[in-house]
Amino acid sequence: MVIYKIKENSNKEIESIYKKALKQLEKFYGFKLEREPNIIVIKDREQLKTLVREGADWIKGFSFSYLNSIFILNKKSLTKSKRISKKTDYEGLIKHELSHQFYHQLSSKSIPAWLSEGTALYTDGRLKYQKEPEIFTNFLNFEKNEVGKEVYKESGFAVEFLVNKFGKQKLLELIKECKNIKSPQEFKDKFEKIYKFEMNYENFNKLYKG
Ligand SMILES: [Zn+2]
Repeated sequence: MVIYKIKENSNKEIESIYKKALKQLEKFYGFKLEREPNIIVIKDREQLKTLVREGADWIKGFSFSYLNSIFILNKKSLTKSKRISKKTDYEGLIKHELSHQFYHQLSSKSIPAWLSEGTALYTDGRLKYQKEPEIFTNFLNFEKNEVGKEVYKESGFAVEFLVNKFGKQKLLELIKECKNIKSPQEFKDKFEKIYKFEMNYENFNKLYKG
């Protein structure tokens, strides 16, 4: 058991990243957040371990709409990889979690996970550092709101493909419709109604490389 005391803090770097990201996301989603979220900085992975049930070794942040808060790992605790700098990753992380807040205001849920994560990935600016799949084989498995590394592999590219091929408005329409969707089948029907093709890998791949 750990007791934390929340204390207000000022951080010029986060403030400036946040402001820029907020503007860009307002433009993408086409609306403003009803309430701007709190940003809670997690000191290190040890502290993160006390906050999540699993994924403490790879999670860098998370967003809670009902807490009106996003949690991000301290910049110092991010590890630098060859493909992506710490600075870029940090900006992307803040933008990613902030994007989830916009998404949630539009859809009021985070399912299917591939659409929710895919949209956050597409909007956070880090997709270009990720390996693009040759063909789609796994993102549709992520219907429910499960946390796991696998969901990040293809989802961002699937959303990018939908935006490039069919435009942003259709994507926003689909996200908004999630509010009223009660089952995976209902989602599939809604998808087909909006995109005029059945939601399966065969159709995605045909259009993806075509
Ligand atoms: Zn996310």
